[in-house]
Amino acid sequence: MSAKKIIIANWKMNPQTADEALRFVQGVLAQRLPKNIELIIAPPFVYLELLKKNCGKEIKLAAQNISWAERGAYTGEISGLMLKNLGCNHVIIGHSERRYIMGETEEIINLKLKTALRIGLTVILAVGEKEQNDDISKVLSRQIESALEGVGVSEINRLIIAYEPVWAIGTGLADTSDHALSAALLIRKIISRLYGPEWASDMPVLYGGSVSEENAADFIAQNGIDGALVGGASLELQSFIKIIKAAEKNE
Ligand code: PEP
Repeated sequence: MSAKKIIIANWKMNPQTADEALRFVQGVLAQRLPKNIELIIAPPFVYLELLKKNCGKEIKLAAQNISWAERGAYTGEISGLMLKNLGCNHVIIGHSERRYIMGETEEIINLKLKTALRIGLTVILAVGEKEQNDDISKVLSRQIESALEGVGVSEINRLIIAYEPVWAIGTGLADTSDHALSAALLIRKIISRLYGPEWASDMPVLYGGSVSEENAADFIAQNGIDGALVGGASLELQSFIKIIKAAEKNE
């Protein structure tokens, strides 16, 4: 488990102007940010440079996507080397919107993940079942095993796994904290089988899916859950600040 609780804001394709993006981080930085929290914002690519210049050390940045190629003739793609050179050290890979709307296969996710780790980025790997009655053990095993195919134990310390049941994303229907905890434990079991028990306990495992100012504390307080990946509620400054404060109560 991570020594700090990790809160990640996934802004998706928002906001529509650089001004709004800047005002949001200024609003966050105006707060006294708790010391035991790692705060990461994943804005659209076009705001990364601006935010890098304005976030200081308190907020880290994540990209929402990466090319599986490092360089070359790949129109429209953004390479991990570009992200690294910009000072962006994290990337989200395997988000359900990329899997199921943009058609990313498990093979592509594996390629992207290996490229990101090779370049030295920390990967936030999103996994989770589509429907509430899916066989979660089967889904998580398949998604994690395929994403980590060919990844050696020496690289695994740059991996964060976010359990994000697809049915809970953007629906307002959050998972229960007990069920999210059992999913997190299942994820640790899979990592233990693949890499050994010490990695399973050390690896940060987060919950994501309709996290709000009302329910954030329930998830973050769980012993096997290291924080939250927040979508919709990370776009509303006051809600996001309340979520950060909810994590602080675990100090
Ligand atoms: C997400 O985008 O990963 C997410 C969890 O979104 P939301 O919080 O809006 O459900």
